[in-house]
Amino acid sequence: MKYDPHSPRASEFINHEEILATLKYADENKNNLELIDQILDKADQEKGLTHKEASVLLVCDDKERNERMRNLARRIKQDYYGNRIVFFAPLYLSNYCINGCVYCPYHAGSKTIKRKKLNKEELVREVTALQDMGHKRLAIETGEDPVNCPLEYVLESIDTIYSIKHKNGAIRRVNINIAATTVENYKRLKDAGIGTYILFQETYNKESYQKLHPFGPKSNYEYHTEAMDRAMEGGIDDVGIGVLFGLDSYRYELAALFMHAEHLEARFGVGPHTISVPRIKRAEGIDPGAFDNSIDDDIFAKLVTIIRIAVPYTGIIISTRESKECREKVLPLGVSQMSGASKTSVGGYAEEDIENEPTEQFDVSDNRTLDEVARWLMEMGYIPSFCTACYREGRTGDRFMQLCKTKQIGNCCQPNALMTLKEFLMDYASPETKAVGEKLIEKEIEKIPHPKVKEITLQNLKAIEDGKRDFRF
Ligand code: SF4
Ligand code: SF4
Repeated sequence: MKYDPHSPRASEFINHEEILATLKYADENKNNLELIDQILDKADQEKGLTHKEASVLLVCDDKERNERMRNLARRIKQDYYGNRIVFFAPLYLSNYCINGCVYCPYHAGSKTIKRKKLNKEELVREVTALQDMGHKRLAIETGEDPVNCPLEYVLESIDTIYSIKHKNGAIRRVNINIAATTVENYKRLKDAGIGTYILFQETYNKESYQKLHPFGPKSNYEYHTEAMDRAMEGGIDDVGIGVLFGLDSYRYELAALFMHAEHLEARFGVGPHTISVPRIKRAEGIDPGAFDNSIDDDIFAKLVTIIRIAVPYTGIIISTRESKECREKVLPLGVSQMSGASKTSVGGYAEEDIENEPTEQFDVSDNRTLDEVARWLMEMGYIPSFCTACYREGRTGDRFMQLCKTKQIGNCCQPNALMTLKEFLMDYASPETKAVGEKLIEKEIEKIPHPKVKEITLQNLKAIEDGKRDFRF
């Protein structure tokens, strides 16, 4: 099997021999400071790195070069994403699942997990609860079960979610994290108005993948790995990739993750919209200690640093799996999106009595409310953003990438962040959070480069105070 990023075949674009050769090359050059400096000089141009170059940086343990990497990651984060952090919340529709993923409590053989699927009434309650917190952007999650959770149910749920208008609330972007499916089904999801299609590879190592996915449709490594190709063929041009760190060697996973990004760029002209960096966590019947590839906070921070440097145009997502302390550490290194006040159970936002009935997919480490998380971010100088503008303005796929590559995105993101934050402050924030937020907006408005955009933003902020909503650039 030959490595070929243009190939539609998983075994060729995520080529095992190429990954092993990459890791060997990285080991051989981990002390080659001349090469490392050359790679860092290239990274300095903010145009990204190859999987081979990134793999060398990952194993480099020279103190000074690592400091340079972190500074570079901080600078790229500032140049492309500023101090904005976009919020989203996961919404679990159903935990029925016919797969056997050994690291997930929803696996088909679980006897302890309570199976649940939201009916329409429950879905409305969940979405209303999310709107009442201030969320505007959701990521739908389901297990895989064509009988209990068919695509029609997911499509109907998307329709319902977009239709719910409670007080000033609205969900303006629904991202979808559901099992790998056909081109035809991806077209239907696209037509339903989804934002990003997210699917984690879990592990790119085929041998481990097969052990970890002993049965069910997901056990087909090729079908799963080629899912993003089918999504793009179905017209979805914003896709989100990721691995579950801890299942296999993080070095193997990172090289493969970048190969996947290179493949999408080579074949479709547009790389992944986002990369998620979940780590395996404790859950009902799942002990993360049983997986011997778990990574500590320092390695985790280095992974975020390298991803930021290697794919500057791709958003990095961090979830409430991570603690407040860990988030504080990695936010400046490149994170652009995070979940806040998440519930990882079916019906978790509206129900209060489910604690005795385990339906959670994993334990959440950060249990603060959205108001608290927003205030914490602002006190550190970040702007919590509820922006969903690009997808609603048709700026997806290569149109979004173009905007990002020319750094013009800053002219949209900054005012959109401030206007959506203002909505949050007016409608949902506590007086304390509101006071911090108003001050921040006053300061941040000055950073809008274009005078006309700044003027319109000021007018819109005033209009939001007067009760109007949903402005965007
Ligand atoms: S990871 Fe997804 S597919 Fe696997 S058992 Fe859990 S819900 Fe099912
Ligand atoms: S303007 Fe586009 S890229 Fe910027 S935060 Fe909004 S949706 Fe994201």
